[in-house]
Amino acid sequence: MPKNVIIIGAGFGGLGCAKTFADAKDSSAIAVTVIDAKSWFTIGGTWQYAWAGRVDTSSTTWDLSKCGAQFPGVSMLLDTDVASLDLEGKKVVLGDGTALEYDHLVLSPGVVGDPSSVPGMDTTLDMYSHDSIERQRADVQDIIADARAGETQTLLVAIGAVPYKCPVAPFEAAFIADDVIRRAGVRDQVDIVVTAPVAWPLPDPAKEVFSRLFEEKNVRFLPEKTVVSIEGGVKAEFADGDCIAVSKIWSVYPQRAPDFVKATGACNPRGFVPVNIATNGVEGSDGVYCIGDCCGIAVGGKPHPKAGEFAWQMGEMVAHEIMRTEGYEHSRLGACIAECGAGAGVLVAPDFTQCVKDPEGGKPSCAIQDRKTDGEAAKLDWVNKYIRNIFGEGGRRFEPAAAA
Ligand SMILES: Cc1cc2nc3c(=O)[nH]c(=O)nc-3n(C[C@H](O)[C@H](O)[C@H](O)COP(=O)(O)OP(=O)(O)OC[C@H]3O[C@@H](n4cnc5c(N)ncnc54)[C@H](O)[C@@H]3O)c2cc1C
Repeated sequence: MPKNVIIIGAGFGGLGCAKTFADAKDSSAIAVTVIDAKSWFTIGGTWQYAWAGRVDTSSTTWDLSKCGAQFPGVSMLLDTDVASLDLEGKKVVLGDGTALEYDHLVLSPGVVGDPSSVPGMDTTLDMYSHDSIERQRADVQDIIADARAGETQTLLVAIGAVPYKCPVAPFEAAFIADDVIRRAGVRDQVDIVVTAPVAWPLPDPAKEVFSRLFEEKNVRFLPEKTVVSIEGGVKAEFADGDCIAVSKIWSVYPQRAPDFVKATGACNPRGFVPVNIATNGVEGSDGVYCIGDCCGIAVGGKPHPKAGEFAWQMGEMVAHEIMRTEGYEHSRLGACIAECGAGAGVLVAPDFTQCVKDPEGGKPSCAIQDRKTDGEAAKLDWVNKYIRNIFGEGGRRFEPAAAA
């Protein structure tokens, strides 16, 4: 009997895991099924091109029914919702009641944004939801129109809680908003503010270059500001008693595991599934792994960053663990490029390889590259690398129009 592997989620982590099984020379003893509630794949790093008006929102999604040739031997159950898990009975229960048995279960369902702990935040836009792109585009246009009409505007990017996925994304959003508003000729009338509930949400080595960019772009970063309520979508109140009156708020909702995972009792108080960095195994649940945004890992008292690159690599590692691949060497090297407008970008590349090899003694490192002329090109290469991995050479390349 082949071993049954079920992977929940066809995002970065789930596909990284499935691709590793598909590419393995001999995985015939393993039956792999990927389940996803959606039938499309998206890369969050393309969304800002849509709200900045450089591509249609439809260009930020790819049809997963077209990825079969890259995943030989893998069954994909798309548009299929997982309702619950029976970890003792080793079953996944689908929305229609069907129960699927597994030998190994790989959880890669990402996270959900949950604004319930911050009164009023639900009226603001969640900048980590694909559904927000159109509203974000309209917000930028409203800001420009109101500034042209002579009104002073404030755009607040409010990070609700840490950890959150792609730590550079709120800063990138502020920089791209700066670029679009500057090109529209009204930057002097617009205050752009980013708040975080911690002193600095990125790796420490990134602080110097980002601080310089805040100054250059006149973006105000306010650390240690925990947003506690939003009034009428126009006033943000913070734990230290400060208030900021705003025109538009782009929130990073506090993130946590989806409800069907939470219901298993496997989550920590922050809402993620704790796993060992060296295996991604879920303690106390036989054959169960959790990878990507949904898992919680602490390294030296700080959270392991959540990013597509890391989710994919965790998926690879777990597939090799299940296949018992001899001689496999894991690399845990991230690549998050924060675009800064006008072709520039900052590459933040944290490396956790040593921590995976040696969870007790291994230390992370982080390289920073300030790519003044080819930052955007590097980001597009990164995006298109994943499109090729998942959809093959014939996959639709992501090619935004030049900034207006
Ligand atoms: C705006 C933005 C910009 C970003 N930029 C970058 C970047 O530049 N670089 C980078 O490395 N990362 C970036 N990220 C982060 C990256 O997208 C995530 O870290 C990555 O997607 C995590 O992968 P995952 O597999 O854990 O979850 P996801 O990719 O979110 O996939 C989870 C999948 O599980 C499915 N699912 C959930 N619940 C169920 C259910 N009940 N039943 C069936 N299916 C279910 C979902 O439909 C989804 O397809 C960005 C994210 C955003 C939002």
